[in-house]
Amino acid sequence: EYTNAAWQTRKNAAMARGEGNIAQVFVDRALGSEVWDVEGNRYIDFGTGIAVCNTGHLHPKVHAAVTAQLERFSHTCVMVTPYDSAVELAEQLNVLTPGPSPKKTMFVTTGAEAVENCIKIARAHTGRRGVIAFDGGYHGRTLMTLGLTGKTAPYKTKFGPFPGDIYRGQFPVPYHGVSVDDAKRSLAMLFKTDVDPSDCAAIIIEPVQGEGGFYPVPDEFMQHLREVCDAHGIVLVLDEIQTGFGRTGKFFASEYSGIEPDLMTFAKGVAGGFPLAGVTGKAEIMDAPAPGGLGGTYAGSPIGCAAALAVIDVIKSEKLVERSKEIGAIFKKRLTALQERHPSLVGDIRAERGAMVALELMNEDGSPNPVLTKTLLEECYRNGLIVLTCGMYGNVFRFLPALTMSDEILTEGLDLFEASFEKVIQ
Ligand code: PMP
Repeated sequence: EYTNAAWQTRKNAAMARGEGNIAQVFVDRALGSEVWDVEGNRYIDFGTGIAVCNTGHLHPKVHAAVTAQLERFSHTCVMVTPYDSAVELAEQLNVLTPGPSPKKTMFVTTGAEAVENCIKIARAHTGRRGVIAFDGGYHGRTLMTLGLTGKTAPYKTKFGPFPGDIYRGQFPVPYHGVSVDDAKRSLAMLFKTDVDPSDCAAIIIEPVQGEGGFYPVPDEFMQHLREVCDAHGIVLVLDEIQTGFGRTGKFFASEYSGIEPDLMTFAKGVAGGFPLAGVTGKAEIMDAPAPGGLGGTYAGSPIGCAAALAVIDVIKSEKLVERSKEIGAIFKKRLTALQERHPSLVGDIRAERGAMVALELMNEDGSPNPVLTKTLLEECYRNGLIVLTCGMYGNVFRFLPALTMSDEILTEGLDLFEASFEKVIQ
C-alpha cells in the first residue's frame, strides 16, 4: 500500500498531470544531503529541490530559527503589522547584493512573483513599456513570466496569448553556435525592428541561464548589457533566483562580471526550503511604485524571513561560498575523467560557476542526445541518486548539491553517477 508506485497511482488520480514529477520517489524524510523514500530507499541529493536547500535539508540553525519563530507568531502580514525579521533581512540583502548604490528590498513568496515585480517596478520607474528577455531564459510560470521565458515546450505550449511588449534577444552560447557578437547584433536589431530603446523599460537576464542549460553569461556580454542600459536609461534586471546564495562560488553570480544590476531577484536558496522571494535594487528605482502598489498576503512571511536570516548566517559562518567552488572543482575533475573515457558521448562540461555544474550528452555525430539523457536520469534514480536535467535540447545534466555536502557523500554521489552512466551505455 505505501509503495512509491501506490502513491504515484493516487497522485495521478488526485493531482493534475500538468504538475508532473520527474521521479516516482515519494519522500518520507530528508536531512543534510540525504533523502529517504516511503520504501526506505536512501538517495544522495544532487538536486536540492531545484537549487533551494543550499544549506542542506533541515540545517540545524535553520530548523532552530524557524522553530523559535513559530513560538512567537506565524503570520500577521507584513503589509498590516510588520515585524523585525523582515526589516533585518532587507537590511542584510541591501548590503549583500553587488554594487555600491544604496539599495532597498521588497518581499513576495515565489520566484515568478519576484520577476513580475521587477517588471512592474521598472515600468513605474521609467514610464516605459518594452521588456527584453533572451532565448532559453526561464523566469516562471505566471503569464508575464511565461511571456519572458524563452522555451516553448513544456512551459508555453497552449498557454498564450502572452502579455505584449516582450522582445527576445539571442543568448550567447558559443558551444551551440551563438557568439557574443551574434548576441550583441541581435539586441541591436531588436532596437531597430521591434522596440526603440526609448520605449524600453527593462532588460532581464539570468547571470547563469538555469532551466535553459546552465550557460553562464560571458562577462563581456554582461558588461555590454550594462552599457546599453546606461546609455538608454533601461533598467537592467538580473534574475538570480537559481544562482543566488552561494550557489555559483560567489554570493551572487552577477559578481563575476563586476557589474551592478539595477534590480535583482532572489528566491529558492534564500530561505533554505521555506517559501520566500523578492527583489533587491537601487533605492530610487525600488521606490518608484506608490505604497500598496507592491506586496501580497504572504509577502515576506515571518517563517521565511527567520529561515533566511539563519541561511545567511550559515553561508557566512560555514564559508559555503568557498565550499561551492571546491564542490565545483571536484565535479570538474570527475566529469572530465568521464569525458576522457567517453569523448563522443560527453560533450561540454561547465564547472566554472561553483556548485552549479552541467554536462551535455551528445550523439556520435555531435548532435545533442536527449534520449541517453532520459535513460541515464532514470538509471540514476534507480541507483539512489537524485539529479536533474535541463537545456533547450533536453541533453544537459545539471548538478545542484547542497553546499554543505561532505566530500564522502559527494564522492559517493559521483560514483553512483559514473556507475549509472557505464551501465546505460553498455
Ligand atoms: N527564475 C529563474 C531563473 C528560475 O530558475 C525559476 C525557478 N526555476 C524562476 C524564475 C521561477 O521561480 P518559482 O518557481 O519560485 O516561481
